[in-house]
Amino acid sequence: MLLTITSTTPPATDLGYLLHKSPFRLQSFPLSFGKAHVFYPEAANERCTAALLLDVDPVGLVRNRRGPSGEGGTLDQYVNDRPYVASSFLSVAIARVLGSALGGKSKDKPELVDVQLPLSAKLSVVSVRGGEKFLRRLFEPLGYEVSVVHHQLDEKFPEWGESFCYTLELNGNVKLRDLLTHIYVLIPVLDNEKHYWVGDDEVEKLLRHGSGWLSTHPEKEEITKRYLKYRRDLAREALARLVEEEAPNAEAAVVVHDNEEAIIERPLLLNEQRMKAVVAALKNCGAKRVIDLGCGEGKLIRSLLEDRAFDEIVGVDVSHRALEIAHERLKLDRLPARQRERLKLMQGSLTYRDKRLAGFDAATVIEVIEHLDESRLAAFERVLFEFARPAFVVLTTPNVEYNACFETLPAGKLRHKDHRFEWTRAQFSNWVNHIAEQYGYDVRTLPVGPEDAALGAPTQMAIFASKN
Ligand code: SAH
Repeated sequence: MLLTITSTTPPATDLGYLLHKSPFRLQSFPLSFGKAHVFYPEAANERCTAALLLDVDPVGLVRNRRGPSGEGGTLDQYVNDRPYVASSFLSVAIARVLGSALGGKSKDKPELVDVQLPLSAKLSVVSVRGGEKFLRRLFEPLGYEVSVVHHQLDEKFPEWGESFCYTLELNGNVKLRDLLTHIYVLIPVLDNEKHYWVGDDEVEKLLRHGSGWLSTHPEKEEITKRYLKYRRDLAREALARLVEEEAPNAEAAVVVHDNEEAIIERPLLLNEQRMKAVVAALKNCGAKRVIDLGCGEGKLIRSLLEDRAFDEIVGVDVSHRALEIAHERLKLDRLPARQRERLKLMQGSLTYRDKRLAGFDAATVIEVIEHLDESRLAAFERVLFEFARPAFVVLTTPNVEYNACFETLPAGKLRHKDHRFEWTRAQFSNWVNHIAEQYGYDVRTLPVGPEDAALGAPTQMAIFASKN
């Protein structure tokens, strides 16, 4: 099984930096099912090709088989196609041997990681259930030019007909990590066999690697179903969580956030009041380790850093741009080491389960939920209240009733164009009560900002405390 990747952009040998593999020597890696070798059949300034050769040991496969019995019928036999076709073994090898490149890291030339290059990948051979049409339906929507050679079962006996095997070539202007990711996810989908047991963490894996392209792929249902090997419960969960991609909107949100919403709310100094209320609530809970979810440009983080009560502060946002701004505004590069150690910023989404979100005394979610589509709220609820499960959660969102009090806001308009909804006090209260009941938390709601007798306060805050 052979994968080659060719770059023709001088200096083409930069491919070695991107793959973390020197073009000038052969490297071999033992894997549980055989061996992987990386080498470069050509390495010149104008053209450089890296090869990943997989040597699968079919006998070892049967002897060392792990997982529940009955897994993958073909693996029961010593003679099978696994050494010869690209399959989930190739995906495992990519993750093990080219893991840094797959993750978009380059130690020596990080600036190359985000560069789109004209790249060509050739796979000899892929096993495809669904024919050439399916092959094209998978790769063409991702922008690749696809060339395919279909192989006969046996050249000497044409009457035996065609095999499932194809030689596949993909050409595109892509980032290397995206090319590897597409191959990583889609090869097992083409092959429709997996050598390992499909469990719950496969959903996470698929969503992580599918981030940025799977939710808009026209074949996303078939890809999900096959990737999760027809485990309908898992496929349903994955599809529900894939409904849409928030990142682009979130990116847009942060840039205009300051301008639009802050201008409307400015006369009230609402932002300052909100931060004070949140910090007070956190201190009241005795929280020392706090994670700020949807931290944006780091307004709350600044207040937390100033207060010695908080030992460990983590800010998470889906938007890289927001995190960059936070990094600058908080002057992280110039903080004294002791201060710097208290704070970490990380990119992540609140609607995907993430182990890094667990283990905190308190989580804050300040003016964030209204940026999530209502259809994604259920995913967010589980991520935070079921999986991350901090002892306390402090959450704020606008009170839409109060909008009538903003002179500069036309009637019926929300405070920000990225807001998917703004709730009345009754709607908010229903939602927080439902969460408290479902996930075992106590909750109370509080007004933040100047209160209007009839319409309430501009911001509504909920404080959740875990019952166990
Ligand atoms: N909490 C900050 C920012 C609020 S703006 C403050 O009070 O100033 C909303 C923030 O939520 C934006 O920075 C946006 O990038 C982020 N966001 C939106 N959807 C998200 C998601 N699914 N996961 C993580 N962050 C998200």
